Amino acid sequence: MSNLTDLNKEIEACYDCELSKHRTRVVPGEGPEKVELLFIGEAPGWHEDQQGRPFVGPAGQFLDQLIASIGLRREQVYIANVVKCRPPGNRDPLPAEIQTCNKWLERQIELLTPKIIVTLGRYSMAKYFSNESISKIHGKAKMIDNIICYPMYHPAAALHQGNLRQIIEADMLKIPSLLADAEKLTEAESNPQQLNLF
Ligand code: URA
Repeated sequence: MSNLTDLNKEIEACYDCELSKHRTRVVPGEGPEKVELLFIGEAPGWHEDQQGRPFVGPAGQFLDQLIASIGLRREQVYIANVVKCRPPGNRDPLPAEIQTCNKWLERQIELLTPKIIVTLGRYSMAKYFSNESISKIHGKAKMIDNIICYPMYHPAAALHQGNLRQIIEADMLKIPSLLADAEKLTEAESNPQQLNLF
């Protein structure tokens, strides 16, 4: 059995916070064992809670389209969330729940060794960019602990605010050049300041 499968089993057996009492299924995340791109969303919604898979509802359909727009398939990236269980009534995850669940995300990142982490929405953004506003920093990558961190609006934002759709699509289209940067970094261990980062 793979390390990731073992980790998912541990996550599925987690009862460390209140959210575990309300869930139908745990949603650990989905994708290959090693990836270049890791997307981190907020929390499972109703569809995800039913299926035990991330981003399978309407926001997930838009995420699939965004991934396809850069010539990738969903199966080639890893998709995870800040919290692995659905908050009741789709409320926002609480700080204590995010903190309790963070250990799983950290272990996922350790195993997956992504070159780029794309944060979707403000909850995952807050893990890497504290005291920032998404309207200011979306679409601007930053090197953090040797990983390119790239904040984007949550795909669901486009479903509620139509004007964000084009912004999200444009931000997504910058990812291939970041991937090329990540490749250059791996090859040459060059100075990140020379790349497309801010
Ligand atoms: N929204 C999220 O943030 N994550 C999901 O898995 C689904 C919707």
